[in-house]
Amino acid sequence: MGMVGGGAGSFIGPVHRMAAELDGDIELVAGAFSQDPARSRQAGETYHISPDRAYANYQEMMERESKRADAIDFVCIVTPNHVHLPIAVAALEHGFHVMSDKPATATLKEAETLEAVVRRTGLLYGLTFTYTGFPLVREARRMTRAGALGKIRKAVVQYSQGWLSSSLETTGQKQAVWRSDPGQAGQGGAIGDIGVHAFNLLEYVSGRQVAEICSDLSSVVAGRSLDDDCNVLLKLDNGAPGVLFVSQIAAGDRNDLQLHLYGEKGGLHWRQEDPHYLLVNWAGKPSETFHAGGDYVSAETRAEFRLPLGHAEGLIEAFANIYRDFAKSIHARFNDPSAQLSDLVPGIDAGVRSMTFVERAVTNSRKGWCAL
Ligand code: NAD
Repeated sequence: MGMVGGGAGSFIGPVHRMAAELDGDIELVAGAFSQDPARSRQAGETYHISPDRAYANYQEMMERESKRADAIDFVCIVTPNHVHLPIAVAALEHGFHVMSDKPATATLKEAETLEAVVRRTGLLYGLTFTYTGFPLVREARRMTRAGALGKIRKAVVQYSQGWLSSSLETTGQKQAVWRSDPGQAGQGGAIGDIGVHAFNLLEYVSGRQVAEICSDLSSVVAGRSLDDDCNVLLKLDNGAPGVLFVSQIAAGDRNDLQLHLYGEKGGLHWRQEDPHYLLVNWAGKPSETFHAGGDYVSAETRAEFRLPLGHAEGLIEAFANIYRDFAKSIHARFNDPSAQLSDLVPGIDAGVRSMTFVERAVTNSRKGWCAL
């Protein structure tokens, strides 16, 4: 794996490195970790990679790696959103598969451009919609798709954080600065940063697509040009109604992603801050709680746990499940050039859908209100 981004002081790059290497299928061997060549070299030392493979910029990494006999197989993108597109395109054009962090790109137009390049090159493109890697999320997906809940009739998904309750970006906090700058974050603020997770989780588990939305986006903290709070009504493609809300100004909230999905036979409930439990409330019979590590889940889900009951796994292991499936897809490609990306890994379709959601939520916000 070659990484772009993930230099000193960055948030998610080091998490990707830990997760990718967890199962021994992947090794970080190259990177362009910062826009600053000295910082990139320094990060290379921290990650224990050979000095000649800590590159000054991503263009140099693609060019030099593509000429090596022991070249990287894929590029992992962990930079701010505005450079996801050029980095992904450069990687694909040099023959490397891509694993990108979300959102796929900064805008819908960019996502469509990327989709065309992915299709033309035929290379693998995966997106780390992290929460899709939690075994109990996948168990929820398997149950739902097998019809355990019956017809889906209502969906509620929330993702609330409080870390942008004040104008943190004006203090220079690195992660807040670029997320509140449309030039680096893209079209969406909270909707692009965490709304895409909520949207993807809903479609990933329900197996349904969101067909229509009615959105209300706000910039609650003065001085922001991007949204920091979003409330969206939605209709699934089977007509089922739903609600999605995301906020980064929900003071005191940490990383409260929740999915509530109701069918004719019952409703399932999963919460990221307590990811070891999946609760299913059945209509007319007692509720069931599925525990992480339990052997009563499907064989596929059992294989996604690394530890037995009662031993906590978390975000890094969820990321690692996505990487493991991505690595399996690359291995399959070694033997069969027509092998496709595992359907457990969100790909370019999920990237375009989530960017369509962001674009529509932003451009249609605040239409259709009436006064009381
Ligand atoms: P960050 O600001 O902490 O780190 C970004 C890193 O990219 C820095 O090291 C910076 O120097 C580097 N960088 C910027 N431009 C570069 C370039 N042209 N070439 C090489 N390096 C460059 O940001 P972050 O919070 O880690 O977010 C990074 C990405 O990951 C974003 O797209 C964000 O949406 C996504 N993210 C996803 C999750 C998740 O749950 N999946 C969580 C956090 C962040």
